[in-house]
Amino acid sequence: MTEADLQFDRQHLWHPYTSLTDPLPVYPVVSASGVHLQLADGRRLVDGMSSWWTAIHGYQVPELNEAARQQLDKMSHVMFGGITHEPAIALGQQLLQLLPPDLNRIFLADTGSVAVEVAMKVAIQYQHALGYRGRNKFMTIQGGYHGDTSGAMAVCDPEGGMHKLFADFLPQHFFAPRPSRRFHEKYTAEDEAAITRFVAQHAKQCAAFILEPIVQGAGGMHFYSPDLLRILRQLCDAHGLLLICDEIATAFGRTGRFFASEYADIVPDILCIGKALTGGYLTLAATICTSQIGVVLGRSEAGVLMHGPTFMGNPLACAIALKSTELLLASPWQERVRRLETQLLAQLAPLIEHPRVKEVRVLGAIGVVETHEPIAVAAAQAFFVAQGVWIRPFRHLLYIMPPYIIQADELKQLTQAIRDYISTLH
Ligand SMILES: *Cc1c(COP(=O)(O)O)cnc(C)c1O
Repeated sequence: MTEADLQFDRQHLWHPYTSLTDPLPVYPVVSASGVHLQLADGRRLVDGMSSWWTAIHGYQVPELNEAARQQLDKMSHVMFGGITHEPAIALGQQLLQLLPPDLNRIFLADTGSVAVEVAMKVAIQYQHALGYRGRNKFMTIQGGYHGDTSGAMAVCDPEGGMHKLFADFLPQHFFAPRPSRRFHEKYTAEDEAAITRFVAQHAKQCAAFILEPIVQGAGGMHFYSPDLLRILRQLCDAHGLLLICDEIATAFGRTGRFFASEYADIVPDILCIGKALTGGYLTLAATICTSQIGVVLGRSEAGVLMHGPTFMGNPLACAIALKSTELLLASPWQERVRRLETQLLAQLAPLIEHPRVKEVRVLGAIGVVETHEPIAVAAAQAFFVAQGVWIRPFRHLLYIMPPYIIQADELKQLTQAIRDYISTLH
């Protein structure tokens, strides 16, 4: 890669949440394998991000490469309208074995944001089919993240989602405060009364309550009490609302349970998965709902769900997703995630002594260090690359969620780099 290539990138390619006129530096990666990213200049970095929650098995996974090759020799893509294929059917069968029995109608979307859009449209069509007319809003909690398309963006945290920018464009939904209790805490009677009042107040205008179970990811990396999910499950039932769990970041074991909602022992009416579904190889997501919802939609005015992306059910992505899920289930993933949790806790928790550190949070294979001041991303990133690790902070957060296959010494490199970075803050 030449300096001219990088110049081209700076001038013409948009990167996520990055200025076109004054972009932050980017690091050219030429390949990746195991837990390592290979930079063009020869340096090799231990990956702490799993490419945004996706690469749970690391990179260049022989089984996944092989699954991709085999599928390529058959077909990469065919339309899903009027056609079906084995990769989609086999993946669907595999997912049904993992899902609670009630959740069994699968929509194979092409990105997480689209899976959320589909979930929201299902909820709206469902209420409409039941004869309700005013139930076209959503309830959610502050601090959430559900994707960048318009429908999803409207239920993201109002501050982080920049609602002010889009105030006249986005529909207005109802935001409960961020969950009052942390993961290990219990909801008190007052906490419960507050959320009960909130739901009762808005239920008649809403189709569903949507939230990320247990872990609020890109909205701030907060881990909240399972009690809230239990309470919401009851409230949704009592008020005829659907409960949508967005597990796009949390599913596939990241929190220590296969689905984070298992911590609360609840089953949502609609579940969204994505990110780790293909082990980070390709973009694929799914929206899964109950057969009862399917039956109601069938009776609706349209009779069908009004959605169908071009790349719906992409065979290549489905074949890889099937293999990735098989690989995960055949691995001792619970034990691995528990081991990562123990090590993350042991090596990050002492940072709470540092005056610049506000909080340290660990759940499953997720480690978060929150600082009092926002982190200077470009400088921090350069520091980490110099240390041989890939960690991308945002706002006040240094966080890592490495591939499950990471070894103890490699994870130590990540946590040590975070400790070293913190010690540079005065
Ligand atoms: C990443 C994410 C999304 C959006 O997924 P994309 O594939 O980026 O569209 C939605 N919800 C949650 C919880 C996510 O973490």
